[in-house]
Amino acid sequence: MSSAAVDAEVATVLRTNLEAVRSRIAAACQRAGRDPAQVRLLPVSKTVNETRLRLIHAAGIRELGENKVQEAWRKSQAMADLADLRWLLIGHLQTNKVKQVVQFVSEFQALDSPRLAQALDRRLQAQGRALDVLVQVNTSAEDSKFGLAPDQVSGFVRSLSAFSSLRVRGLMTLAEFSSDAQRVRACFVRLRQLRDRLRQEAPDGIGMDELSMGMSGDFELAIEEGATTVRVGTAIFGQRPLPDQHYWPADQDTD
Ligand SMILES: *Cc1c(COP(=O)(O)O)cnc(C)c1O
Repeated sequence: MSSAAVDAEVATVLRTNLEAVRSRIAAACQRAGRDPAQVRLLPVSKTVNETRLRLIHAAGIRELGENKVQEAWRKSQAMADLADLRWLLIGHLQTNKVKQVVQFVSEFQALDSPRLAQALDRRLQAQGRALDVLVQVNTSAEDSKFGLAPDQVSGFVRSLSAFSSLRVRGLMTLAEFSSDAQRVRACFVRLRQLRDRLRQEAPDGIGMDELSMGMSGDFELAIEEGATTVRVGTAIFGQRPLPDQHYWPADQDTD
């Protein structure tokens, strides 16, 4: 087959997968009495190559979530001609990569330390821009997960009003990896209840509308519990070549 024919076939698969995910989102919204327009689908493109990302862009996608800075940077450079494509960082960030991040990332969903907030704000000021951020919360109490413990979030969010370049939009979490839907749902409920509480007490300028939760295996549950963004990789792009431990290392670096 010619490469054009292969591309056409891949494009069809991607469009079909997107449609299937959108129908599942719509069905979950219907069950929950929610408007599907209130749920943002963020395709997660880690390990997915440029050819397929150009095809998903051609299918109408304008935002991509990436887990690692280097990979996201490389892709954003290679696809700089797609001026309306926005890159979101959804994985842990070390402070020594902040300088690079402020050059191309439009939203950061894994803010989890005062030190990182300060480093980001300083670089953003220098760059003369602002950044949408979500605070990552560890709702499963698993050591392998990044994010703040739920009882630390309130104080942390209050401290963020000192950083005028960070536009705080809400919270993000990864649920427990479990086949037990009750345990997974409990993580989503925890994040929503925390968000609702913070909404009452948040200082001016701190937004608490976003709930980024739910992935390929659990986004319906997340929508039922109030997700405003679902981050979906595998269900759109297919299986990744490496296990997820590669992206969520158990040995957390303490930079
Ligand atoms: C990879 C990843 C996802 C998407 O996972 P799938 O199971 O492939 O849908 C969502 N969120 C984060 C933070 C990820 O790293």
